[in-house]
Amino acid sequence: MRVYNPDNSRWQDFEIDTPQNPAGLVACPPFFDMHTHVRLNGQEDYESLQRAAIKGGYGAALIQPNTNPRLSTKTVLNRHIELAQNAVVDFYWTCSLFGELQPDNERVLCYSNDGIEYDTLDILNAFRSKEPHLVLDHSQLYEVGGIFYEGTEKDLSKRPLSSEAISIYRNVLLGLECGFERFHIQHVSTKLSLQTIDILRKYAKVSCEVTPHHLFFSMKDIKDTNFKINPPLGSEEDRKSLLMGVKKDIVDVLATDHAPHDEKASDFERAPYGTSGIEIAFSAFYTTLGDFEKTVEKMTISPRKILGLKTTFDFDNLTVIDPEAEFVVDSKNFVSKGKNCVFDGIKLKGKIVGVKLKGRWVYWDGEFLFDKKESFED
Ligand SMILES: [Zn+2]
Repeated sequence: MRVYNPDNSRWQDFEIDTPQNPAGLVACPPFFDMHTHVRLNGQEDYESLQRAAIKGGYGAALIQPNTNPRLSTKTVLNRHIELAQNAVVDFYWTCSLFGELQPDNERVLCYSNDGIEYDTLDILNAFRSKEPHLVLDHSQLYEVGGIFYEGTEKDLSKRPLSSEAISIYRNVLLGLECGFERFHIQHVSTKLSLQTIDILRKYAKVSCEVTPHHLFFSMKDIKDTNFKINPPLGSEEDRKSLLMGVKKDIVDVLATDHAPHDEKASDFERAPYGTSGIEIAFSAFYTTLGDFEKTVEKMTISPRKILGLKTTFDFDNLTVIDPEAEFVVDSKNFVSKGKNCVFDGIKLKGKIVGVKLKGRWVYWDGEFLFDKKESFED
């Protein structure tokens, strides 16, 4: 089978034992999602998340801190570790920038303020009181409000397009002043934000990620409440600039922001933010970018390097893909408990066929292989 190793950017042919004939298929290392939400409130647990991740070709995911209760104490962290102890997917955690839990470089890889409302003083106080470490930054001026960016026809379209960039500038500069050195800007949604990140790279180590939905859709596509996403969808100019940002490597990481909700309210004001997408993320990225190698690099070794994890390639961990297969997204078939997906009804190219983790095939052609003879407990 043709195998792409993003470590040395090379394609090579290898004899690989697979559950079925692998003709026409290619392989690469399993993906790493740097931005995953697990709900633990009936809408996504570690078991459903693990299946969704595997179906999407992922072997590891970094959990954001806005769980219920928040990832801000050792007790909560231990509960998560316990819930995920039999998983074959490697779960890692972030800790709230506003709590007492600290990164330990083993399970808790960094701080994150994702999904937690804060203001300037909150973030300044956090930077002043914490031991410096990598920060994942959800950049938002919460006091401005607005569900959508200005420019849509909706009443709730009150967020200025510049507000994300202003928050990126504020958060990184405040962190720098307090001794923090490394920042990873989450789900960048505007052209101005990318330009801001480019400027800030003169002063600090700043990496960033984009989501499949911000690369694929813009504000003119907003239909139903599945399109209520935070940050909101930008203009067509923003979308094109994000695509260019990936091509020119201004964007380091492709992340899902997998945010499952079983069903969303139909009015925009009441519906929660987020789209469930870990099981179709590769296909969405590959369809949008049309560049297999870049897609794989930014879904595998880029996040691992930023988080200080090993990136060496091995044959015990593989994701097998049919790069030519096309399918129409139907979230009713998701194994995630989150059926809220902006890509519903959209035709995508590139399908995950198999996943091998820690030396054994755990998924092949729609079937979870651990169901048959072994459970995760083995
Ligand atoms: Zn966020």
